[in-house]
Parts: sequence; structure tokens; C-alpha cells
Amino acid sequence: MQFRKLKLSGFKSFVEPAELHIEPGLTGVVGPNGCGKSNLLEAIRWVMGENSPKSLRSGGMDDVIFAGTQQRPPRDFAEVVLDASDANNQELQVTRRIERGAGSAYRVNGRDVRAKDVALTFADAATGAHSPALVSQGRIAAVIAAKPAERRQMLEEAAGIAGLHVRRRDAESK
Ligand code: ATP
Ligand code: MG
Repeated sequence: MQFRKLKLSGFKSFVEPAELHIEPGLTGVVGPNGCGKSNLLEAIRWVMGENSPKSLRSGGMDDVIFAGTQQRPPRDFAEVVLDASDANNQELQVTRRIERGAGSAYRVNGRDVRAKDVALTFADAATGAHSPALVSQGRIAAVIAAKPAERRQMLEEAAGIAGLHVRRRDAESK
């Protein structure tokens, strides 16, 4: 899977709509401390379904919405759109939107879908919000110190079989 474009609006410090084109190859994001580099990575995780406050450096779900500054009022929603092309070179557009107090909604290629569908889309492509391909600040030490079971999960995700477990849990809960 290749990420092509990331669009953000009202997500954390990205209060104004912003669009990032991700060219093939290595992408570097540079800027002074606090300019929003980590927020960009979190936006990618978030649109792929991340809900863990720790991964998002947030207290509650609404904390990803622009909280306002002395000059600007807070926003009441945040939206992130990720354009990608999948392993078969098919275009894929995933949208996640959260409204203050009303939770998240997802769309894939313009159709309303469940959070689970988004998780499956990325789990099958060996990527996703918990993919070992995404290593956030300070996580290198955690990877080294991981317990065997956690390391197995990382390997399974890297091998692209994590989607099987999502499906098994889904089947078992019925
Ligand atoms: P560093 O180089 O220190 O790692 P960084 O470029 O990774 O910095 P981020 O951590 O992405 O920076 O951005 C931090 C900024 O985002 C802070 O100024 C913080 O106030 C702002 N921020 C985070 N969440 C929100 C929010 N919900 N509303 C407004 N601003 C936010
Ligand atoms: Mg950072």
C-alpha cells in the first residue's frame, strides 16, 4: 500500500485545512519543536482507526479536535482524509471525522463504513494504526523491551496476518 495524500482539517494543531502530497520514496518532515510533526503521524494513525489515548497523546477522543488558542476559537470537528493506492494499485480513500461529543464516523471511497471495516482494510495490507512501520517518538526503546507475545504481534502485523485475528475475534463474538 502506498500513501499518496493526507488532508487534515481541525485535527490538533492543523486548524486550517492542510493538504500533504506524499511522493514515492522517503519522506522527511522537518520543522522546529512543537510545529506539528508528530501530529501528522498521529493523523495517519487516527484515520486508520487508532483510539488509544496514549498513541494519540490525548485524554479523551475529542482531544484530537483543535482546542483553540488565545487568537482562535476551538473547532467542533476534526477530519482527516487519507488517499492511498492498495497492493493492486486500486485507489483507496479513507475519511474519519469526529464531532465534539458525538464520536467518529468513517468513510471508504465515499461510503459510510464501520470502524471495523477500516481496521480490516489496513490489517490485510500489513499496515494500520498499530503497524510496526509506524514508530513514534520514544518507541524504539519500547520495541526493544517488548515481551515475547507483543513481539509476536508485531511480527504478525508485519507479515500481514493480523487481519485473520480481527476476523476470528469478529466471528467468535457472534
Ligand atoms: P517536537 O519536535 O518537539 O517533537 P513536533 O513537531 O512533533 O515537536 P507536535 O508534538 O506534533 O510537534 O505538536 C505539538 C503542538 O500541537 C503543540 O503546540 C500543541 O499545543 C499542539 N496541539 C496538540 N493538540 C492540539 C489540539 N487539540 N488543539 C490545538 N493544538 C494542539
Ligand atoms: Mg514530535
